[in-house]
Amino acid sequence: MTVRLDNREYTVDTGTTFLDFFKKVGFGKGRDMVAVKLNGKSLDLTAPVEEGEVVPIYADSEEGVVIVRHSTAHVMAQAVKELFPKTKITIGPAIEAGFYYDFDYPPGFTEDDLPRIEEKMREIINKDLPIQRKVVKKAEAIDLFAKWGEDFKVELITEIGDEEVSIYFQDGFTDLCRGPHLPSTGKIPAFKLLSLAGAYWRGDEKNKMLTRIYGTAFPSQKALDEYLAFMEEVKKRDHRRLGKELDLFSISDEVGAGLVIYHPNGALLRYLLEDFEKKEHLKRGYQFVMGPHILKLDMWKRSGHYENYRDNMYFTKIDEVEYGIKPMNCLSHIMVYKSEIRSYRDLPLRYFELGTVCRHEKSGVLHGLLRVREFTQDDAHIFLRQDQLHEEIAAIIAFVREVMAIFGFSYELEISTRPEKFIGSEESWQTAEQVLREVLDKEGLPYDINEGDGAFYGPKIDVKLKDAIGRKWQCATIQCDFALPERFDLHYVDSDGKRKRPVMLHRVILGAMERFIGVLIEHYAGKFPLWLSPVQVLLLTITDGQAEYAKSVYNAMMQEGIRVQLDLRNEKLNLKIRDGIMKKIPYLVIMGKKEVESGTLSVRARDGSEQKNVALADILDKMKEEIVNRR
Ligand SMILES: [Zn+2]
Ligand SMILES: [Zn+2]
Repeated sequence: MTVRLDNREYTVDTGTTFLDFFKKVGFGKGRDMVAVKLNGKSLDLTAPVEEGEVVPIYADSEEGVVIVRHSTAHVMAQAVKELFPKTKITIGPAIEAGFYYDFDYPPGFTEDDLPRIEEKMREIINKDLPIQRKVVKKAEAIDLFAKWGEDFKVELITEIGDEEVSIYFQDGFTDLCRGPHLPSTGKIPAFKLLSLAGAYWRGDEKNKMLTRIYGTAFPSQKALDEYLAFMEEVKKRDHRRLGKELDLFSISDEVGAGLVIYHPNGALLRYLLEDFEKKEHLKRGYQFVMGPHILKLDMWKRSGHYENYRDNMYFTKIDEVEYGIKPMNCLSHIMVYKSEIRSYRDLPLRYFELGTVCRHEKSGVLHGLLRVREFTQDDAHIFLRQDQLHEEIAAIIAFVREVMAIFGFSYELEISTRPEKFIGSEESWQTAEQVLREVLDKEGLPYDINEGDGAFYGPKIDVKLKDAIGRKWQCATIQCDFALPERFDLHYVDSDGKRKRPVMLHRVILGAMERFIGVLIEHYAGKFPLWLSPVQVLLLTITDGQAEYAKSVYNAMMQEGIRVQLDLRNEKLNLKIRDGIMKKIPYLVIMGKKEVESGTLSVRARDGSEQKNVALADILDKMKEEIVNRR
């Protein structure tokens, strides 16, 4: 038979495996092949070659690493069965960045079991056991797994509609599996077990609680080491942990899931960001507006929110009249626009509000500050003429770029197009999508297209931030809307005296303040630049003898608008310093006998550098300069 590989044709004997075929033609040397695609279907390397187009799957490809991880999950299950023979196996898929396997082992596993399991896995890998596939009749598979007491597998097989099922075995271990798999256990390049968790059988809390073991595998030890170092860094930066350590915010079950309580440091951080934003908006010709939290249901029906966004909204009733709690700030801004007759000369009108919205997010997706149920957007709605679209969108993008540079983020752009649920005509969608493309093209900014991910009222440009460790976060968006001006019958009087429809832009720069603060905490690893630090300076005394002097320095700094705290506790200096370091305060100022006598200060910066005999005026100047330059 004939097979095609890399644009060449080969004649192959029937019964030859892919493994033998590749060896014979000398293909794929120096790269780890894990499986193969035949006419687009993934198969084991040990499968016999069939006629058609052959494409190898390598370990370092997206598809290949999934196969590596799934085979590692099988090896883990084998190791667990060998160490804990009473264990029953359930399911063990590859997931993003790793794999897991759920086991029924009533005593449960502990963290201490993981090294033992890893050790056993290494043994299995070193034995380089062949991983073999067999297709059997369903009844036969049920008999097999029933004989071994694997009730969960029996339950799964019983539900399969096909007459035959495939099983994979290596040594004494057998699993129900579609495959493909590595040809042998020795082909697993690098792995690590990560953690334990409880998981209900089939994710249903009415079912039995199982023990889940998470692990990961990579195409090379280097890639695995890099991943583990990255995860360590992610853990260190976790905003939920830092939020507690730095006393920024809390989320309490008593209050409700996804609802943020700001503590003094967090509220101050938010004030600083909001103050910054208000000034930046005023500089760019935005006007402040504000609307109520609840608006009559009819408004939401007219806007299309009720029809398209109802599941994410909360509703309430007052004096028998139904209201919707706003999930977006658009409608009040529209009312401001409508409050007067607008001329073409008035446009663009830019309304800005730090608008708090409530959205029903499923409890499963709530995550610290990153996904919450009540949040405040730095929201603006711009009403403008069609001929102003290009210039205005370009100005918003420049705004985003300037702000992101201040925080040290790089970014990527994406255009999201018409979703399944949408309002407005297809034609206006096309126009809007084209405008967004044209602006980015003209600005020479690269972008991706995200098909079908636009808001229901218009397409949008999304800005994805890249943080200090390379993770991407969705923050700013610019949405182009022809539909709401239509629905609310907005117009302006054009130069020819005729009434025309304005276009509406919805846009946020930071996005949700909660989410942005969460991202900032992780981006800076809690070490906020001086201008954003809730506490900028901590004053420390060595003994009570410096209390008076310290108070005078404290007052002087307060007068200059520095956010300063004073630690007069009767504790060892080292302990006081350690507390200041823990709180990641930019400057610790230490005062002992010497400093009082010379009327100077000892300054310890957050990077550990120290300076003695510093005059108060000098440190104040230095800080003010840093603050002005937003460092
Ligand atoms: Zn499997
Ligand atoms: Zn809006």
